[in-house]
Amino acid sequence: MKRDDIYLDYNASTPCDPRVVEAMLPYLTQTYANPSSRQHQHGREAYAALEEARSTIARTLGCRSGTEIFFTSGATEANNIVLSGVAQAMTHRGRHIVTQITEHPSVLEPLRHLQRIGWELTEIGVDRDGRIRLDELEASLRDDTVLVSLMLANNETGTVQPVLDASRISHRKGAMLHCDAAQGVGKLALDIDRLDVDFLTLSGHKVYAPKGIGALFIRRTKPPVRLPPLIRGGGHEGGLRSGTPNLAGAVALARALEISGQELTAESRRLAELRDHLETHVTSGIEDCTINGSTEHRLPGTSNLSFAGVDGNALLASLPDVAVSTGSACTSTHAEASPVLRAMGVPALLAKASLRLSLGRFTTADEVDRAADRIVAEVIRLRSLKRRFQST
Ligand SMILES: *Cc1c(COP(=O)(O)O)cnc(C)c1O
Repeated sequence: MKRDDIYLDYNASTPCDPRVVEAMLPYLTQTYANPSSRQHQHGREAYAALEEARSTIARTLGCRSGTEIFFTSGATEANNIVLSGVAQAMTHRGRHIVTQITEHPSVLEPLRHLQRIGWELTEIGVDRDGRIRLDELEASLRDDTVLVSLMLANNETGTVQPVLDASRISHRKGAMLHCDAAQGVGKLALDIDRLDVDFLTLSGHKVYAPKGIGALFIRRTKPPVRLPPLIRGGGHEGGLRSGTPNLAGAVALARALEISGQELTAESRRLAELRDHLETHVTSGIEDCTINGSTEHRLPGTSNLSFAGVDGNALLASLPDVAVSTGSACTSTHAEASPVLRAMGVPALLAKASLRLSLGRFTTADEVDRAADRIVAEVIRLRSLKRRFQST
């Protein structure tokens, strides 16, 4: 990033908070022993630090105990562990899974793979705001439905799903609920126990910790749900995920969740104000600009805007100093319109004319103003170029 560049792509990844880096550094250079090497004091210290990080994470998320938290490399891995694990562990109960169409690829792709090998998958649709309809969810559940997978908040639009209602409906029908909370954790008040989900996944680099660390919550039940591992080896993480744990990453994630928990209320308000200011600034500066997604049930720092008549990629190319994205980081290499926006009924051309702006902890009011000015100027310029081209 150049000094004057503006980073508005926090939903793709966040910088590490310096307080998080400070907390993790000793675990790179001083307490570096293998947490499994409990024959010596160094290993025991590393083990204690890992378990303390686990308890801190459990506490900040509202779990009953650290035994419900498992470290992974990120949300993609955690989602894969849950989806392939449930499929293998639950075949005796049924072979039907329900999800919704705007899930992240790290949920949709593993599920579509299960479908190819014989599972039945129902992908329910969303309304104009990007939210599922609870009556449609209820109608999709069958006696052989083992799992419902529903994200907490969408990465492209920030739309928040009714996860609590969905988990109640699913449980009533005997299905478990998995929630990909990678975008919700640290941005929305979250209490796993109250949310009543069975599995929840999150990612370090979306909450100001480094890339390469994530966590998976598995509710303790009697009898326990025993998911088979994706990665086999020395039996780390209770046999669920072998491989020497990323101790520094785990400490960083715990610190990151502590900080976001402490600052959540004030920070959510600040980000919502900045986001609203950005939207007012842009929509009052140009015509035919629409907000995609729910304005009521939305993450505080996310804005997805469509600019009729302007190609999103052309707009991106003319904004080299503003780091924003079209669609999600995971699908933006494709030239097609965002499947998330299309699923919400946004016409293909308008979906291709969209930008996702995601604000975060280090975004300032000045940056928001400058970004809005730049976007307004470029949209006006691209529209007038197009008009000139069309009139010749
Ligand atoms: C970023 C993201 C993921 C993937 O997380 P990684 O830790 O990068 O694997 C999954 N789901 C959602 C909603 C995300 O935004």
